[in-house]
Amino acid sequence: MLYKLLFLLLLLGLAAPRASAAPPADTVAARPGPAFDVEAATQRYLNTLTPDQKAKSDAYFEGGYWLQLWDVLYALGVAAVFLRLGLGRRVQALAERMPRPWLRRLAHIALYLLLAWALSFPLSVYEGYVREHQYGLSNQTFGEWLVDALKGLGLSVVFGSLVLLAIYAALRRTGRRGWLWATGIAMVALVLQVFVSPVFISPLFNKYTSLPAGPVRDGILSMARANGVPANNVYLFDASRQSKRISANVSGLGSTIRVSLNDNLLNRCTPAEIQAVMGHELGHYVLNHIPKMLVFFLLLIGLIFWGIDGVFHRLLGRYGPGWGITGLGDVAGLPLLVALLAVVGFLATPVFNTIIRTQEQEADSFGLNAARQPDGFATVAMKLSEYRKINPGPLEEILFFDHPSGHTRVLTAMRWKAEQVGK
Ligand SMILES: [Zn+2]
Repeated sequence: MLYKLLFLLLLLGLAAPRASAAPPADTVAARPGPAFDVEAATQRYLNTLTPDQKAKSDAYFEGGYWLQLWDVLYALGVAAVFLRLGLGRRVQALAERMPRPWLRRLAHIALYLLLAWALSFPLSVYEGYVREHQYGLSNQTFGEWLVDALKGLGLSVVFGSLVLLAIYAALRRTGRRGWLWATGIAMVALVLQVFVSPVFISPLFNKYTSLPAGPVRDGILSMARANGVPANNVYLFDASRQSKRISANVSGLGSTIRVSLNDNLLNRCTPAEIQAVMGHELGHYVLNHIPKMLVFFLLLIGLIFWGIDGVFHRLLGRYGPGWGITGLGDVAGLPLLVALLAVVGFLATPVFNTIIRTQEQEADSFGLNAARQPDGFATVAMKLSEYRKINPGPLEEILFFDHPSGHTRVLTAMRWKAEQVGK
């Protein structure tokens, strides 16, 4: 759960469209007449989705709601295997063979991360490979998918173990203020991860190059310059290695910040659509969304750790001896901490979604103003129905959407068109 949230943070993406939706006749060049009806224009776009396409899109996205629930239940099951079925004690016995206390803790944490990954593997295969193929979104063979998954495992075991070792060192020394120190260490790790990921982590999974010369590149770079974004901070990457999804993102912090567009976007979209998406991404960059998001996360992670601290101590009194956990600073309690984090993270999902979605709406407005391509933006928003439900109810959008829905985006674009084009 936490990894997913961090991943979301790293990828403030607009996400991806399908090439088949036929654009309506309106074009950006034509100033809409006085009879231009925003609602009707929005509906015309929504109608470009066939009933079959809409049913498939709804099924994929709504299935994701249930997956979030299954993820939490599965995480509780994994914790039970460690705490109730005794896997935790076996891990401890193995780790005890190390010569020094800190090495024992490090081995315990690393073994836990490895085994928890292995226990979650069937669900990961279903979510990341089987289901993506069922909906025609993946370009990977199982072997390619597995190699990426193993790279991710390697990174999380190496760096996750070190961060957790530091957190446990603080928890053992700082008593009831431990959650405060844990928040600080988690945030330092997160900031470092955001800072280094475009340079050291993302290139492990994809190849990043400069944009190929041509009118599309010229249009993007001129829009970037107009908004104060250096041209050498714009990259292209081969997302088609993994997926058919069209998307782009802003990543990094300070000297590593950059806009990256994926090759699916470049190959499957019109110049107007590409310009519209890049306007949105420049919005994330110019509006400093990543630093702002880190501040939100600092507050939320602090609140979550504080809450977990309370629940953990209550459970410790009752189940600690049976589960072999002596205190918050005991690494044997890691499965319980992760389970609690999964539950709280699940309950906080609408809050995280709303924080992210609010930034996405800001980037949408920025992008419309910067690119001035309301119809390109609308057609891309329709293409994103490939993996995002196009027309949810208002409450559904608040609870489950980390980006505005297609309907919201098309409506925003048509309103912008009615009021801004020709001015
Ligand atoms: Zn975005």
